Amino acid sequence: RAKSAGSGQFARYDPQMHSGLVERLQLAADLRRALDGGGELEMYYQPTVELRSGDIVGFEALVRWNHPARGMISPADFIPLAESTGLIRPLGQWVLAESCRQAVEWGMGASERPLTMAVNVSGRQFDQPDLPAVVASVLATTGLPAERLCLEMTESVLMTDTEENLAVLVSLKGIGVKLAIDDFGTGYSSLAYLRRFPVDTLKIDRSFVERLSGAAPDAALARTIVQLGQSLGMGTVAEGIEQYAQFLALRRMGCDLAQGYYFAKPLPAAEAGLLLRDPAALAA
Ligand code: C2E
Ligand code: MG
Ligand code: MG
Ligand code: MG
Repeated sequence: RAKSAGSGQFARYDPQMHSGLVERLQLAADLRRALDGGGELEMYYQPTVELRSGDIVGFEALVRWNHPARGMISPADFIPLAESTGLIRPLGQWVLAESCRQAVEWGMGASERPLTMAVNVSGRQFDQPDLPAVVASVLATTGLPAERLCLEMTESVLMTDTEENLAVLVSLKGIGVKLAIDDFGTGYSSLAYLRRFPVDTLKIDRSFVERLSGAAPDAALARTIVQLGQSLGMGTVAEGIEQYAQFLALRRMGCDLAQGYYFAKPLPAAEAGLLLRDPAALAA
């Protein structure tokens, strides 16, 4: 609306637009302050479970922001804000360092069975060519072996700035970390692209898991992704399992791993640590 006002004219005042902008600026300032410390940001951890055995094979780290006035703000709301303000860079580094530190505290680096800490990486972090150096430095500082860290990215990382991002992924693979495509099936990545990228794991988006139960179950898409993973030599993780029927269907299809409220919600570190020491507490 402001744009359409001719030159020399005042833009019409739009109180809604105004409050939206002010609110975003305020929230960005709050996030900047939260990144300076003070404990408002906290990592939660959701177990990843092997479908065949029911064993916990790792965790996904999910950031939480406990805002002093607004209460818990969902990452679905503040990650986009962090991306558009450049704060994703310090936030991403904090998430990575804290998750790796926690993994080492839990002994994940030294454990006999291989346990993996999965960390979400925003597409905007790939715009920074020093991402591999940042990851290497966090691994060196925390002492987590590279192969115990998995970086999750969405399909958009494959489809935009493809050559640049391919180079970044190849150097990340060179360090030895695992790579996963998050929310797989919701984007438009071509199979040819998928083949070129050194990806270890496909995470089947929750929307396909949802279709496995209910009045008219539809297994075609989940099965296709599991088979695609198998034929490309990639593992598969199902996201968002909430029901026994979904668990059974995915196990039958040969899907390797899963996450979801059916096993456990994302948990504060203390509770996730208890689960790791006493896996029987996982009611699966
Ligand atoms: P995502 O990486 O796909 O994470 C899975 C989301 O599904 C999480 O939401 C998790 O709490 C939720 N979830 C897990 N199991 C179930 C289930 O059985 N049912 C349902 N309905 N939901 C389930 P959350 O924690 O709110 O995170 C949302 C998104 O925000 C994440 O999606 C990820 O894209 C982003 N995100 C979260 N933490 C970080 C982070 O540290 N860094 C970055 N860059 N992004 C993050
Ligand atoms: Mg994820
Ligand atoms: Mg996901
Ligand atoms: Mg998802």
